[in-house]
Amino acid sequence: MAIVLDGKKLSLKSEKDFSKRVEKIKAKNHPTPILATILVGNDPASATYVKMKGNACKRVGMDSLKVELDETINTAELINKIEELNANEDVHGILLQHPVPEHIDERSCFDAIDIKKDVDGVTSLGFGRMSMQEKAYGSCTPYGIMRLLKEYKIPLEGKSAVVVGRSPILGKPMAMMLLNENATVTICHSRTKNLPKIISTADIIVGAVGIPKFIKSDWIKDNAVVVDAGYHPEKCGDIDLEGVISRSSAYTPVPGGVGPMTINTLIMQTLESCEAHLGLD
Ligand code: NAP
Repeated sequence: MAIVLDGKKLSLKSEKDFSKRVEKIKAKNHPTPILATILVGNDPASATYVKMKGNACKRVGMDSLKVELDETINTAELINKIEELNANEDVHGILLQHPVPEHIDERSCFDAIDIKKDVDGVTSLGFGRMSMQEKAYGSCTPYGIMRLLKEYKIPLEGKSAVVVGRSPILGKPMAMMLLNENATVTICHSRTKNLPKIISTADIIVGAVGIPKFIKSDWIKDNAVVVDAGYHPEKCGDIDLEGVISRSSAYTPVPGGVGPMTINTLIMQTLESCEAHLGLD
C-alpha cells in the first residue's frame, strides 16, 4: 500500500505547535508575530492566496498586515514600500505575492526584502545561502515538500530524484534541497529531451511544471515516490496521479498534499523570524 504524504494532516499538526509557540510569545508580553503581505493589482487568484495566508496567521494567533497596492505602481515605488516594511520593527516576515504585474522587475523587488524577513524564501541571497547549506529560510513550496518527506521518513540519500521544472521559487530550490540531502538530482525543463526516459529512472519524481496532468503515469517506475506540486482549477496536479498511485511507494494527493504545506511553511518561518528577533530561538 502506498503511503499517503498527507500535507493537510501535517499542517494541522504543525499549526497546533505554532499556536503554542505564539501563546508563549504573548504570555511574555512580547508583540504578536506579524506577517506583512503585499498584493499588487487585482488578480483574483493572488487575492485569494493572500487571504488564505492571512487566515492561516489568524488560526495560530498571529497577525497579518495587508498592504494592497495599485497595479500602476512602479518598481521603485514597490521597493520603497518593501524597505519601509524592512524597517518596521513590528513586522517579522514579508510576503510579496507573485506574479506581480509585468512592468515591475520582480527579481529586484524580491531581492529588496531583508534576509531576516524573507520568510517566503524568495531572495537570491536566501537561495544562495540555502544552497551552500547555510542558515536561510527555504522557499516555501519546496521546503514544505522536504518537511513532508521527512515526516514520513522517506529515504533520500543516494536516491535518484528527478525534478521537472526549474522556476526560482520551486524547481531550482527543490533540486538544491534534495541535493543537500544527498539525493542524485536531475532537473528537467521545457528544453529537456527524452523526458519520459529520464523520468523512468526516478526513485523520487517531483512534478513542478504548471501543466495539468503533464507527467504521464506510465513514465513513472514502480515503487517511486511521487510528489505533485501542481494545482489546477480542475482539482488535479501536474502528474497523472490516478494511473500511478497504486504502483507508487508514496505519493502526495491533490488536493491535500503539497498545497497545505506551502502556507504552513510560510507561517512556520514567520514565527521563527519573530522568535529570532526576540532572541527566543
Ligand atoms: P513556472 O514558473 O511556470 O515554471 C514551470 C517550469 O516547468 C519551468 O521551469 C518550465 O521550463 C517547465 N516546463 C514547462 N513546460 C515544460 C515541458 N513541456 N517539459 C518540461 N518542463 C516544462 O511554474 P512554478 O511557479 O514553478 O509552478 C509549477 C507548478 O507548481 C504549477 O502547477 C503551480 O500551480 C504549482 N505551484 C504550487 C504551489 C503550491 O502552493 N502548491 C506553489 C507554487 C507553484 P523552462 O524553465 O524551460 O520554461
